[in-house]
Amino acid sequence: MDRAILKYIKWLGHDSFCIDGGITIYIDPFQIQSGKKADLVLITHEHYDHCSPEDVAKIRTDETVIITEQKSAEKLEGHVQVMKPGESTTVKGITVETVVSYNTNKKFHPRENSWLGFIIDIDGTRIYHAGDADFIPEMKDIKADIALLPVSGTYVMTAAEAVQAALAINPQVAIPMHYGAIVGSEKDAVDFKNALEGKMEVLILEKS
Ligand SMILES: [Zn+2]
Repeated sequence: MDRAILKYIKWLGHDSFCIDGGITIYIDPFQIQSGKKADLVLITHEHYDHCSPEDVAKIRTDETVIITEQKSAEKLEGHVQVMKPGESTTVKGITVETVVSYNTNKKFHPRENSWLGFIIDIDGTRIYHAGDADFIPEMKDIKADIALLPVSGTYVMTAAEAVQAALAINPQVAIPMHYGAIVGSEKDAVDFKNALEGKMEVLILEKS
């Protein structure tokens, strides 16, 4: 992977990211400031802290393509493309693969809802955003250079479970998310990083 891409990955808090290496991609924009307009917006599922029409409105133009699942699509305006897990599309030169994202030991995110995780391929570097997931068996088959993984527990996997997920995926760099807003604290991110010390590079991003 080209490590230069790491400096283009901005964490906007919670599960929200902006990746701006030429094409501007937002994932799950929530409680964001108005910023650079989006070429592409990816939304994992319909919960308000992931699918936020008012936040999408801050960055959307008539040219913006939004990729999401059916229930989120019904809440959003503009050029919205509905995908199911296990599909692939290319938008503005960026290949986006969808993967399953669900809970295994809690009820908030049932597998049958067909909510999404994403793998974004930017010039051959693959970035995985897990969505609101537990450590699910499908993660063993995910090939990613950079993995964005939830660590807070409650609605998603705990930091300890996220360590197991990271080891299964084995990316070059893991970035913790889903803390500091609704549930979870920076301690969860630090626990995740410490547990992977010597095994994997973990980047705790400052909130932009
Ligand atoms: Zn959720």
